[in-house]
Amino acid sequence: MDHSTTRRTLLASATGTLAAGLLAACSPGSDGPRRSPSARPPSSPTHTATPTPTPTPTRPTLTKVPLPPGTVTGLPEGTPGIAWTVDDGASSDVVGAYARFAAETGTRLTFFVNGVRPAWTEHADLLRPLVASGQVQLGNHTWDHPALTKLGDQAVQDQLTRNHAFIQDTFGVDAKPYFRPPFGYHDARVDRAAAAVGYTTPLLWYGTLADSGDITADQILGFAEQWFQPAHIVIGHANHPGTIEALPRLHALLEQRGLATYTLDDVFAR
Ligand SMILES: [Zn+2]
Repeated sequence: MDHSTTRRTLLASATGTLAAGLLAACSPGSDGPRRSPSARPPSSPTHTATPTPTPTPTRPTLTKVPLPPGTVTGLPEGTPGIAWTVDDGASSDVVGAYARFAAETGTRLTFFVNGVRPAWTEHADLLRPLVASGQVQLGNHTWDHPALTKLGDQAVQDQLTRNHAFIQDTFGVDAKPYFRPPFGYHDARVDRAAAAVGYTTPLLWYGTLADSGDITADQILGFAEQWFQPAHIVIGHANHPGTIEALPRLHALLEQRGLATYTLDDVFAR
């Protein structure tokens, strides 16, 4: 794979391409792109069993590229895998399942944490070694998930700094410079306010598992079939139980497609 300077163009960094997969984030009535039900295989009882995950094969090492200024929605062209990002943490069971999944499979994940959710504290002991090794990265998703565009500058900063302190105190890491604005809502003013407290990179996505609401594992897999593509940043949510059943199937899909997983720090030099 070629990561030379000439190919450091980012996928979908232009604002005009943000629509794909963007709108379904963090809202119960996800209205993102859908596949017709007939396009998916029917559920079968075998899907309810959790297969023993196999370790992810060797991950191609990347030469880190400088973090580009402004909003990031994709990885550098040619990246042979995805950044699998996971938001919110409304369900402690799902956060725990993700942590065990990461430990068992070696899958590299970036969680965008809302500190208000007890899940992050409840599973801190499970997550801490994964965070310490760099396999799991933590980003800032605000303290309690407001639409930042509706808040004043000080309130935007309070949301980020309170959550920053939570992440630092609980996991011993600095989440800067990455923040994910709840619902994807941000503008130049929000970005300036965030940057003033060190959060200089709004980290969005290009493809969603659409599981901020309560959907089935089959549906989640359908979205993954669409969006697990090289160099994509994909957004998922630790909110509803369908995600738990989907995890081993999502891992199998990555293996079938020969896609590695990368944290943001694997790809971008801070
Ligand atoms: Zn969210």
